[in-house]
Amino acid sequence: MTAVNSSTPSSSSRPAHYKAKGLKPGGPRPAKALCSECGLCDTHYIHYVKEACAFINQQFEALEDQIHGRSRQLEDEAETYFGVHQSMTAARKKDPIEGAQWTGIVSSIACEMLNSGKVEGVVCVQNSPDDRFQPMPIIARTPDEVLAARVNKPTLSPNLSVLEQVEQSGLKRLLVIGVGCQIQALRAVQDKLGLEKLYVLGTPCVDNVTRAGLQKFLETTSRSPETVVHYEFMQDFRVHFKHEDGSIEKVPFFGLNTKELKDVFAPSCMSCFDYVNGLADLVVGYMGAPFRWQWILVRNDTGQEMLDLVQSQLETQPVSSRGDRRQAVQQSIPAYDKGVTLPMWAAQLMGVVIERVGPKGLEYARFSIDSHFTRNYLYVQRNYPDKLNDHVPEFAKRIVGQYKLPH
Ligand code: FAD
Ligand code: SF4
Repeated sequence: MTAVNSSTPSSSSRPAHYKAKGLKPGGPRPAKALCSECGLCDTHYIHYVKEACAFINQQFEALEDQIHGRSRQLEDEAETYFGVHQSMTAARKKDPIEGAQWTGIVSSIACEMLNSGKVEGVVCVQNSPDDRFQPMPIIARTPDEVLAARVNKPTLSPNLSVLEQVEQSGLKRLLVIGVGCQIQALRAVQDKLGLEKLYVLGTPCVDNVTRAGLQKFLETTSRSPETVVHYEFMQDFRVHFKHEDGSIEKVPFFGLNTKELKDVFAPSCMSCFDYVNGLADLVVGYMGAPFRWQWILVRNDTGQEMLDLVQSQLETQPVSSRGDRRQAVQQSIPAYDKGVTLPMWAAQLMGVVIERVGPKGLEYARFSIDSHFTRNYLYVQRNYPDKLNDHVPEFAKRIVGQYKLPH
């Protein structure tokens, strides 16, 4: 499915993108405010930006068809929500990787892809030496370099900025790890990279921020922003901040300062409908799994081939679902819209109640998708009304259509 052309062009038959030049970091990008800094425009593949950019040209159905052999079936609720897939499982590593975001399934797969010789390089993102949250995309050639990229950089990351190096270094078999907007642009140009085989390992992604936005989020929400090592919006409806000394700080979602944080999320993420990374071969997240477990979606045979490499390192259980999200989503829509923030005691109490009776497993994943898609639909409707129809994919329109939205 992901086989791509194998010949490196001679100078006489060079494709048009060789003449194009990537833009300098920090300057304006073709998608303007909606740019997610995916990195494509830092390379000569900017030549294809009008077709490739996830925020200029929404083309889910065509790309799903090209990558998975079909687009998602909208009569099937599981596909409408989670995209084309062959299987879903909850899993965790028997021997977790220290310092990984969760148990390190992503890093383990990438290491085994190199160890087994299936790929010669892995596009992933380390952090800059002087800032643990500043992304530094690389092509890892060894498991040690992959492990140095473990843990989320919770900021927009130009992962595709290394694509020109892929071509220059003559790599033919490549694994790319990335979030939805990066993978959409990658899929649109993958045939131009001169690869024999491309593997794509994705994670879900939502509510990402610029480095400056991250600082504001940490300062507004954590008791000690400078010692946060990583954080996650957890299935128990709390943000868990892990600090340098190993302590965990928990802040209920309902206690977040919505008014202050309204502008913190990047406009790209406020208008994204690819939460579950629909174009990756394999997706590893957490939100459809029980608390403390990871969630694995195999989208196609290439994804299964990657998962097989680490199967013996995993403890697994079937995915499950409990509760009914709909009322909670409907109530959250006007509350978010008006920027309602509960006092901390009420937020803590609400957190305890909703943890007991609230949606679990796949229903929690649907809760999160519904809440973000309704919010994002309103954002696009208000800020980019001319884009609304073309930019919002059909599956997202169906999800949003279940709810009553404010005008
Ligand atoms: P690790 O073994 O720790 O590896 C993490 C990998 O992620 C590394 O290979 C690194 O290259 C890559 N990476 C780190 N930061 C970035 C970045 N900014 N852009 C692209 N690649 C990156 N899962 C959910 O189920 N629901 C969510 O709402 C959700 N939100 C997320 C938001 C962001 C910004 C990111 C980056 C991930 C999100 N995830 C979400 C995925 C989840 O947090 C874990 O990354 C995933 O479960 C893998 O955990 P791990 O321990 O196997 O990863
Ligand atoms: Fe370019 Fe990527 Fe920004 Fe689109 S999101 S304008 S492809 S850098």
